[in-house]
Amino acid sequence: MKILVTGGAGFIGSHVVDAYLAAGHAVVVVDSLTSGRREVLNPRALFVELDIRDPALREVFERERPEVVNHHAAQAAVPASVADPVHDADVNIMGTLHLLELCREFGVRRFVFASTGGAIYGEPERLPADETHPTRPLSPYGISKMTGEHYVRCYGTAMTWAILRYANVYGPRQDPHGEAGVVAIFAHAMLAGHRPTIFGDGTQSRDFVYVQDVARANVLAAESDASGLANIASGEETSINDLYRRLAELTGFREPPVYGARRPGDVYRIALDPRRAEEWLGWTAEIGLSEGLRRTVDAFRR
Ligand code: NAD
Repeated sequence: MKILVTGGAGFIGSHVVDAYLAAGHAVVVVDSLTSGRREVLNPRALFVELDIRDPALREVFERERPEVVNHHAAQAAVPASVADPVHDADVNIMGTLHLLELCREFGVRRFVFASTGGAIYGEPERLPADETHPTRPLSPYGISKMTGEHYVRCYGTAMTWAILRYANVYGPRQDPHGEAGVVAIFAHAMLAGHRPTIFGDGTQSRDFVYVQDVARANVLAAESDASGLANIASGEETSINDLYRRLAELTGFREPPVYGARRPGDVYRIALDPRRAEEWLGWTAEIGLSEGLRRTVDAFRR
């Protein structure tokens, strides 16, 4: 199949591109390189440097005629969405809508949307949160992703769709200089001998899922014909203090963290129920946290 991947030069998108190519698909990447990097782009993919909001995207659809569109391009950081919600909405809502309109015009068969399980449910009523949990996002980012989901479903008469609600994705190629991506930020700081900052007291928790598991979910989601929505997660709750200890051990870092103020927009606890992804796509996370962190630290060392 020919698959157009937006955000294919980013952290998760670049692994998704690798997985599609390995599965024998042809890939076209559209990425503005806002946070993505040319170095992580698979040379076997055709690359178009373009903003998803740019009217010139129509020419890419006209020329390439993708059968499937996989949408990863986004303003992807919660703090940045709090600082500039208008920009967040412009990229994540208007950008997604522009893409969906082109999919309808050019008869795209299937749309795969990277959504968030970490930011869409809000402070959870129950853990792990399943897909029927109420969505009460605490941040503009959570709202823009939720709105994207509504639009995707709305285009369900024109194409089949898959919405993947990721937990906290981590692994090689994650940007250690951004505001999001706690594993990359901690690992990078520890390897450089700097004390990382924990925002809050470190008892807050997240559900961590390894990026190659996420890429595999995207292959299954593109190859299926059934429309559906599922969490892509480990189902396990890990505290930030525990994550810190594990990474300190792997990197040989001996100093305690710096504790800072909690950040607005962040949920306190979250873990996602991954069972629906298994029923729908036959997907479960295969790489546990210890192994995933070891691989990530090894990659950052290199
Ligand atoms: P990332 O910033 O590494 O990737 C985003 C990519 O989109 C970058 O390559 C960037 O250059 C590109 N991009 C941004 N704005 C664009 C625009 N207007 N036009 C074209 N390209 C643009 O972030 P990531 O962590 O790899 O996230 C990828 C996707 O997964 C996002 O949609 C994000 O919301 C979603 N997601 C990520 C996580 C996570 O834990 N990292 C969790 C849930 C959902």
